[in-house]
Amino acid sequence: MAHLRVSDVVRRYGSVTALDGMSFAVEEGEFYCILGPSSAGKTTTLRAIAGLEPLESGSIEFAGRDMTRAPVQGRGMAMIFQTFALYPHMTVAKNFAYPLERDGVGRAEIEQRVGEVAELLRVTHTLNRKPDTLSGGEQQRVAIGRALVRRPKLLLLDEPLTNLDAKLRHDTRAEFKRLHRELGMTMLYATPDQLEALTMGQRVAVIRDGRVVQIETPRHLYERPLNTYVAGLVGAPAMNLLRGRVAAGNGGAMLDLGFAGIDLAHGDTGLTPGEPVVVGIRPHDIRLGADTGRGRVLEAQVHLREPLGDVTVVDLRLGDAAAKMVVREEVGVGLVEGSGIEVTIDPADLHVFHAETGTRLG
Ligand code: ADP
Ligand code: MG
Repeated sequence: MAHLRVSDVVRRYGSVTALDGMSFAVEEGEFYCILGPSSAGKTTTLRAIAGLEPLESGSIEFAGRDMTRAPVQGRGMAMIFQTFALYPHMTVAKNFAYPLERDGVGRAEIEQRVGEVAELLRVTHTLNRKPDTLSGGEQQRVAIGRALVRRPKLLLLDEPLTNLDAKLRHDTRAEFKRLHRELGMTMLYATPDQLEALTMGQRVAVIRDGRVVQIETPRHLYERPLNTYVAGLVGAPAMNLLRGRVAAGNGGAMLDLGFAGIDLAHGDTGLTPGEPVVVGIRPHDIRLGADTGRGRVLEAQVHLREPLGDVTVVDLRLGDAAAKMVVREEVGVGLVEGSGIEVTIDPADLHVFHAETGTRLG
């Protein structure tokens, strides 16, 4: 049985339907991510679970209890908001202790828990300082500590890294994984950042317009996106999505991309000749050169190079179509903008989607 079950939750603000049948289930001890762009309904989902939003319909079950109408206090959950406001006039120690004092926890117990949480989050050295003397990362850790000190059974995290700089984001991602491992706590983490979701989530629910589009492990989400929305959201640079048409090929179907035809390896693809489709190919799956083994060799033109340090993203022109390719930095250096090159695409790496609905085919 799921630890947390969100079923068909609907939440409206006037004419805006923020949650439109939101449903998913989280296992006990799981690190579960909700991935979606701004306005998709992430914050509203977490607030609904925490009991901060009245629901039009649907239900929320947690730890075997129906929580749909339960008061916020006593749900056994804690939420960390995107803007993690600490009490500025209190020391870090007091910021930790305050929620416990309000709960009527005894002095000795408070002292012990504050010490534990400070150590867990590596902020023991800041206990006697005020929040404004801490770095952004330390403030964030204190905010997490303040949520953990009450020992919630479920931690709700709303874009906790969005307001941190890039380096800190990287380090804090690792911290979250460590915390999760050490605490074994159920964590529900909302983010618009696919990298965060893929690196931290054991499972990821991709949401759009207040409902779930696909729930998968990061690996499967990357390998088999259910539609062009997920395909475009998961992976960086984003999957190339090219207009094409199904044609009859040698023994099986062929994808006519305008600039080239690619025979599909498998016989029965379920694709109808003549059908317009969107063909997806990951930038990492376009290989430089003509002798890479299996695949279809294509003529391409180097349009732009974008060196990113360890890799270079190359903007290619394939006939009238544009596609991005990723190569190692030392290879990218040798590619001259405006010059012609050969690239190879393995038909097994192609993703085929319905041209109108965007749903995965075959
Ligand atoms: P996210 O956190 O994914 O950016 P939200 O859950 O904040 O998305 O918002 C989902 C939708 O609900 C958006 O269209 C947003 O404008 C709307 N919304 C959220 N909160 C309110 C509110 N208090 N009043 C009116 N509309 C809101
Ligand atoms: Mg939000």
